[in-house]
Amino acid sequence: MDFDSEIDHCSLRILPNTVKMAPNIKDGTDLNGVLFEDDASTPDMALARAPIQHADSHPRQLVWRNIILFAYLHVAALYGAYLFLFSAKWQTDIFAYILYVMSGLGITAGAHRLWAHKSYKAKWPLRVILIIFNTMAFQDSAIDWARDHRMHHKYSETDADPHNATRGFFFSHIGWLLVRKHPDLKKKGKGLDLSDLYDDPILRFQKKYYLILMPLACFVMPTVIPVYCWGESWLNAFFVAALFRYTFILNVTWLVNSAAHKWGHKPYDSSIKPSENISVSVFALGEGFHNYHHTFPWDYKTAELGNNRLNFTTNFINFFSKIGWAYDMKTVSDEIVKNRVKRTGDGSHHLWGWGDKDHAKEEVAAAIRINPKDE
Ligand SMILES: [Zn+2]
Ligand SMILES: [Zn+2]
Repeated sequence: MDFDSEIDHCSLRILPNTVKMAPNIKDGTDLNGVLFEDDASTPDMALARAPIQHADSHPRQLVWRNIILFAYLHVAALYGAYLFLFSAKWQTDIFAYILYVMSGLGITAGAHRLWAHKSYKAKWPLRVILIIFNTMAFQDSAIDWARDHRMHHKYSETDADPHNATRGFFFSHIGWLLVRKHPDLKKKGKGLDLSDLYDDPILRFQKKYYLILMPLACFVMPTVIPVYCWGESWLNAFFVAALFRYTFILNVTWLVNSAAHKWGHKPYDSSIKPSENISVSVFALGEGFHNYHHTFPWDYKTAELGNNRLNFTTNFINFFSKIGWAYDMKTVSDEIVKNRVKRTGDGSHHLWGWGDKDHAKEEVAAAIRINPKDE
């Protein structure tokens, strides 16, 4: 198939079948989303055609081992939630909360923004902190997480996307972990370049010893510390700090794939499912600004500036950039964001400020201006 198309630089509107695609897109027929900056083929960082949303009728093969494990985990987590509220010591509750934030950052600042997207760079001490946090989150090794996530962006909403949201809320939330992988995912996954991940000895070490490190970080350490440090019972420590905390952060991560692919505005690109979901952002440490993130996935903030109050992960990275451990953070210019919002947004973007030409005249007229001066 030929995807040559032309871009009218004035209106930034794409005219089909007239212009050349960027030379770096080797398999343009496959791509369904920009993953890295150089995948883009329009001046406002999009592919030169509308994305496809597709799920075929491939029969789903259930993986009973996972179904039973996840069912047990959720029942145990409900019991853990009960103990969290009515039985555990306050130190254990605070400890579980701290572990939730730490393991969350291992996913958001580590596996997601650093390793899957390369949206910033980190010196080895920060990479060690993030790999410890990441192992506490038990969502597979960072290399495997980043591989799945690159597929999710590159082949978004198609059968090669591990949690293809066109298959519905349940599938994109947890269902994808309960069935065998779609053959498209396996086939196209082979073409994915993961050399940057395998080049990092810290990531290789985690993957090699994962089956030893993960149980220690995710289950043993969270249970032992409350028992020995403040005399918590084994039962409370295990069900609250290990199982409840683990299942909670799992579901928060999954909500980014399910809820933030379903509910919310689409100010940057109305042709895709990912949406701006504030509630998800609060729990997912800033990862719910998902329409922005799928539009500009290499931006380390995963959101426009101004959303930092809800973006704990961005503040975490900014802190480490102050002490020099995080550097080379990539972000998208205002100009590109504006052009993209105008061309493909759904009109829900907030105004850039006073004097914005999209500002409704009635609102401008009704605004209270304190001490105005004629210039
Ligand atoms: Zn997504
Ligand atoms: Zn992402």
